[in-house]
Amino acid sequence: MKKNQQFITEITGTGSQGEGVARIENMAVFVPYALLGETVKVHIVKALKNYAYGKLIEVIKPSPHRTEPKCSVFYKCGGCSMQHADYRYELQFKTNHVSDCLKRIGGIDTEVLPCIPSPETEHYRNKGQFAVTKDGIGFYSQRSHNLVDSNSCLIQKEICSEIIGIIREYMKTNNVPPYDEETHTGKIRNIFIRHLSGGTMVCITVTDENLPNLTDLTKELVTLGAASVMLNINNKRTNVQLGEQFIPLYGDETLKDTIGDIEFKVSPNSFYQINSKQTEQLYKYAVSLAGLTGNETVFDLYCGIGTIGLFASKYAKKVIGVEIVEKAVENARNNALANGITNAQFLCGKAEDVIKDIGKADVVMLDPPRKGCDDKLLKTVKEIAPKTIVYISCNPATLARDLKTLKGYGYCIDTVQPFDMFPRTFHVECVVKLQR
Ligand code: SAH
Repeated sequence: MKKNQQFITEITGTGSQGEGVARIENMAVFVPYALLGETVKVHIVKALKNYAYGKLIEVIKPSPHRTEPKCSVFYKCGGCSMQHADYRYELQFKTNHVSDCLKRIGGIDTEVLPCIPSPETEHYRNKGQFAVTKDGIGFYSQRSHNLVDSNSCLIQKEICSEIIGIIREYMKTNNVPPYDEETHTGKIRNIFIRHLSGGTMVCITVTDENLPNLTDLTKELVTLGAASVMLNINNKRTNVQLGEQFIPLYGDETLKDTIGDIEFKVSPNSFYQINSKQTEQLYKYAVSLAGLTGNETVFDLYCGIGTIGLFASKYAKKVIGVEIVEKAVENARNNALANGITNAQFLCGKAEDVIKDIGKADVVMLDPPRKGCDDKLLKTVKEIAPKTIVYISCNPATLARDLKTLKGYGYCIDTVQPFDMFPRTFHVECVVKLQR
């Protein structure tokens, strides 16, 4: 197979990012935006030894699940990847994807329950991080640093568009230049917006705090409804969005949210699940899987601001949470205090190091970032030998790898339940219960 060849072919599989996969001349050809079951014309854009990438030229026989994307920049923006299919197709893809990863990476052939739909599939994101460059304000296109300028987004809260509008106008009127990563010059790098039940927080990442007319800008944002406005200073040559220093311009440095009957306060640099309504269902499910009777010691590893542990604390004897980000641990401790929870304790450090010194647990909850759990951590979990492990994962590939390890340590997989936490994107969350 060579670059620039064209084929008419059937899509017989899906890739990890929801793209269609065809088999041509015994090679897997990945075709973004093609759906399972479709007959399509593809143009080969890259041919490697065992697989190739094709561009969708024409849909000859469309899938009954094909839909018209609602967003005008869908085919350019790297934010969403499933707007060209209906929601049933998306949920089925997510269920299948988890099942494929477990088989292919983990060698685990087990039932995967149907992915639980999100209560909202549009404007569900409670956090938006918008890049600011000479090309405008928006998100990057897939696998690139090309910005797609846009005024609205189908999955962000509607208030984000208005906030971005105000900041665009402010930059124009006051001649405030965007940051340029090549020359390391300019002022505004990013806009971080969090919208929770306690209101909206706007945090503008800048190279330094010397900006004109900040009072007017703040006033406008507050008039629009912002509960908190702050600057974040980041003058490093880095892709990391938030720097360490925050300068409050208005309101509190933390934002409130309520999940179930617990109230949480969140700092801008603390992790917080981005789909609030689905999070409540996910946490309830995860805690119910733990089968708590009130006598258990529960470890909540990778605990963030303590959400899962605090949810579980009502049904357990004692909860110990471990988290690496200091501010998040401070949030977790304050959240326990504010909710009158006295049987939960939170420790700061790497879970893989701290876990060695905190004794035994009956239940271990694991909720690592995309890269999954450290090998050292899984080994220590084996020594602690909890009866039940509940693993919450946002990456089916690392989940499958870690489940394989835990299987080798004598655990069997009891339930695999995907949750759609990120509608219209290829990302999928998954809750797994393991028993010793
Ligand atoms: N359980 C929380 C957070 C999950 S996200 C919730 O549902 O909100 C994963 C968390 O792991 C993040 O807060 C991140 O800061 C933290 N983290 C990343 N690496 C870690 C490590 N090695 N040890 C402990 N925490 C870590």
